[in-house]
Amino acid sequence: MKIKTLFIDYEVPRDEEVDFLIGSLKTPPQPVQDIREVYEHVNAGQDPILRAKHTLFITRNRGAVVKKCPGTSEYTCCDYTILHTGTFCSMDCSYCILQAYFHPPLMQYFSGLDQLTSHLNPYFKGNQVYRIGTGEFTDSLIWEPISLQPRFLVNLFARQDHCVLELKTKTVNIESLLELEHNQKTILAWSVNSPRIIQSQERGTASLKQRLEAAKKAEAAGYRLAFHFDPMVIYDGCITEYQDVVDQIFAHVDPKSIAWISMGTFRFMPHLKVIIENRFKSSDICYGEFILGLDNKMRYFKPLRMELYNQTVSYLKKRAPQVLVYFCMEDKQVWESSLGFFPSDENELGRLLDRSAAQHCGLDPSLLP
Ligand code: SF4
Repeated sequence: MKIKTLFIDYEVPRDEEVDFLIGSLKTPPQPVQDIREVYEHVNAGQDPILRAKHTLFITRNRGAVVKKCPGTSEYTCCDYTILHTGTFCSMDCSYCILQAYFHPPLMQYFSGLDQLTSHLNPYFKGNQVYRIGTGEFTDSLIWEPISLQPRFLVNLFARQDHCVLELKTKTVNIESLLELEHNQKTILAWSVNSPRIIQSQERGTASLKQRLEAAKKAEAAGYRLAFHFDPMVIYDGCITEYQDVVDQIFAHVDPKSIAWISMGTFRFMPHLKVIIENRFKSSDICYGEFILGLDNKMRYFKPLRMELYNQTVSYLKKRAPQVLVYFCMEDKQVWESSLGFFPSDENELGRLLDRSAAQHCGLDPSLLP
């Protein structure tokens, strides 16, 4: 992460966590009383989105710290819980939804490890399993080299048996996590794609080989793993290349270490297309056979999605029949054609994932329905 301008909310107290962050970034922080000062700085850039990737605002989370993933009623939801630790990302993927999500986008680090503990405690003492992740509004591990937060969370989750933490990333930033007594309550998850898509659409991210080498190290340190094929992009030769990604995964790690693998083809809100066209002039990712889905996102014409899923899932299942595969935001026809079943009610996918979490991470089995 290369931060050129660092702002700090004047209400944030200087403590070990904040001092570590500032010391790691080696950039003097500018105290601000009003977030509009940060917005003005970002908006003054020729490309505000790019400027936001080099600007960090250290602040407190004044909204919901833990919340249920909103999902979409029209497509199957995985019933995930979001831990809101920061926003935006220093990497630069053409298709990143976060470019269009915040106005303007702003990279924020929410300080306050005590706040995380107090908001998570009710979940640790609840009467059900929770899968909790930090990778919804940011990449979970861009923060690892510069902050104490990821290692704090791994240690915190290690001391309970109701919840599993999923840290999702396109980095290889796991060094400080390898020596921790994680008690298998953290799943280290990598988003994966074909090398062609990583190279052409995912600026500043680790290569597939680097991600899988990191996964191998994490596995050797006893962590459970997950992989997310998302977004899968349709192009000539994509099926063979996604099957090769499957081969690469199993060449690096044992399927028994994998809690789940998800798949989702590229989908986007129509206004993201303009941003991609302006910021990634050589990208052709938005051009293809797209239709408007029930959630108002553009997605590939269904027969094309089904063909890619069918070929990738059947190939994967031949290699690792026991690994739980699920689709992110797909409908009944897609599920049945590729996986041979459809989650019978709106919570069934969540229950399948909870069971896999319990089995892989040693959660309290009495919490499962
Ligand atoms: S790694 Fe994720 S959060 Fe970061 S730019 Fe890419 S898609 Fe966005």
